[in-house]
Amino acid sequence: GTARSSGCHSIGVLRARLTAKVGTSVGRDLRSQVYHKLQLHSLRFFDKHQTGTLLARVTQDTDSLMGTIIGGVPHFVVNLLTFIGILTVLFIMNWRLALLVVLPVPMVVILSRLLWKNLFRLVHRFWHMRAGINGFLNDSLSGIKVVKAFAREDNEVARFEQRNEQYRYDLFSLEQYYATFFPLVWLVLACGSLLVWYVGGRQVIHGHMTLGVLMTFQAYLGMFYGPLQFFSRITDWMARSLASAERVFEILDSDPDVPEAEDAVAMPRIEGRVEFRNLSFGYEAHNPVLHDVDLTVEPGEMIGLVGHSGAGKSTTIGLVCRFYDATGGQLLIDGVDIRKIRRHDLRSQLGVVFQDTFLFNGTILENISYAEPDASIEEIMAAARAANAHDFIVKKPDGYDTVVGERGHALSGGERQRIAIARAILHNPRILILDEATASVDTDTEKEIQDAIANLTKGRTTIAIAHRLSTLRDADRLVVLKDGKVAEMGTHDELMKAKGEFHRLVEMQSEMSRITAIKR
Ligand code: ADP
Repeated sequence: GTARSSGCHSIGVLRARLTAKVGTSVGRDLRSQVYHKLQLHSLRFFDKHQTGTLLARVTQDTDSLMGTIIGGVPHFVVNLLTFIGILTVLFIMNWRLALLVVLPVPMVVILSRLLWKNLFRLVHRFWHMRAGINGFLNDSLSGIKVVKAFAREDNEVARFEQRNEQYRYDLFSLEQYYATFFPLVWLVLACGSLLVWYVGGRQVIHGHMTLGVLMTFQAYLGMFYGPLQFFSRITDWMARSLASAERVFEILDSDPDVPEAEDAVAMPRIEGRVEFRNLSFGYEAHNPVLHDVDLTVEPGEMIGLVGHSGAGKSTTIGLVCRFYDATGGQLLIDGVDIRKIRRHDLRSQLGVVFQDTFLFNGTILENISYAEPDASIEEIMAAARAANAHDFIVKKPDGYDTVVGERGHALSGGERQRIAIARAILHNPRILILDEATASVDTDTEKEIQDAIANLTKGRTTIAIAHRLSTLRDADRLVVLKDGKVAEMGTHDELMKAKGEFHRLVEMQSEMSRITAIKR
């Protein structure tokens, strides 16, 4: 006995170790694939999905799917084989009694099918709630500064408790369902066993069968119910893993909505002519944000986009970055439709400096070389010098190895901007997109940032959302957007003379800011 069971155990150890190895590898591959697919999607996709629920898909759902594949499938096979094996033995021993055993099975199948829909709905709701909690936590914790600033901690706790209670309730409904469903199934199954006792017992009494055969039969029957119970559990098992599988495969099977064209054109060196041809765009099809925009930006030219907030400035630059695709008309770069340009060629020659500079939690060096990881330290320092960032960087205790903290919070706004400019200078793009920061910095810093921007725009096509008059003066042409249409176009002086929309915009700025801007 001991020898055999220790033999069994060591095989069990082997199997468990093997399962652990295969399981973790499958999990890793699944997570990688989901994450890779996520990265291919356009911003439209991320507008639609909450970050928290995407997080849950990469971590929890892949785990649960892996659990199914690794834990469930082998069990299924083992139980199926046991089921078939024992059933054969039972039929060989006494086919009449064996028929009694399988009598309740169809009932179990019918019962499972009836309850399946309900169960699936409950599981779905539970998963939805779980992902919702993730989303809530992500949102609330990312905004912790605002929570603190407005002393809304209690409110956030209350909002969490409400979701937590809903989560409990959904889980409770699910568990309660199991608690009723499975005993019911087992009761039906047990009827088979009772029938065998009854019919078999009579046969023994009437001398048609020996007591030994009946006892052996019952012993096998005990083994038969194990797999049967497992199969009744399958409903639950499938409901759970299907819900996860659905979420994981929704991402794996989705097509990126700004796909690489089959006949994509290689453009190793972009000249930098950007043409909007009768272009329209809307985030939702029925609600266009840009209408019939016609605009040609010559190579090396600097365009300043101006207009009221909501006029469509960010949307315009989002289209040039191909965060989204036009819904009507065309956007051409060097005469080639942007949808036809090889994604890599476009991205590698396009540089963006965003208004809310995003720095990753790492060192200053890593953040500057984000797009050019192979850049040498000399190149990185040259870029930092051109961006007027070198001096403040070397004053930090750790210099270029200073860790910037999550989103770069350990740096000031002006410092973050100059690191972003250094990042763009190092990237050396042919087309530069500039979303100028509105954040007010002191005059000296602003001067340094202006100089850095001047270094950055030299010799490249630049499309800038301009807020400062100083930037507007540097621009070759200004494009005034109004309600998603080009209202005016021309140099700063021309537009001022024309006394149109631009003139009105300038007038509207407060006297104070105008004076400070012109003085410089
Ligand atoms: P601007 O940059 O000039 O302030 P935007 O291009 O950001 O203007 O916005 C233009 C319009 O598009 C606004 O009405 C805005 O509400 C809408 N919009 C911007 N981004 C989105 C989005 N991701 N989804 C839906 N609507 C959006």
